[in-house]
Amino acid sequence: MGQLLKKDKRPPVKIQLKKNDQVKVIAGKDKGKTGRILNVDSASGRVMVEQINIVKKHTRKNPAKQIAGGVAESEASIAVSNVMIVCSKCGAVRIKHTVVTTDAGVTKRQRVCHKCGGALDKK
Ligand SMILES: [Zn+2]
Repeated sequence: MGQLLKKDKRPPVKIQLKKNDQVKVIAGKDKGKTGRILNVDSASGRVMVEQINIVKKHTRKNPAKQIAGGVAESEASIAVSNVMIVCSKCGAVRIKHTVVTTDAGVTKRQRVCHKCGGALDKK
């Protein structure tokens, strides 16, 4: 009796990853590779990672628009569940959230490594 959600009616996926995060691919054809996140799409639950999931794009040449044509290679997005954030000490880890209080008394949420507790957010 479960309710089935249509693919395009799915709620946005909560993505804990951010642009410029270093991630490791844990599934798919680029399994084991690491790269930097270029783009995060929470609507589709996918991320674009540098040099991961390279696809060939065939383009027709168009001199008016300075397009040379031929086969260009570029990244395609991959599902966020197929990547894990990389901790500089532990490797691919899960993300834990903690609340930190700064000297000014401001509390903010911080992403830390699930294993060593090291901060994953660069300042
Ligand atoms: Zn760690």
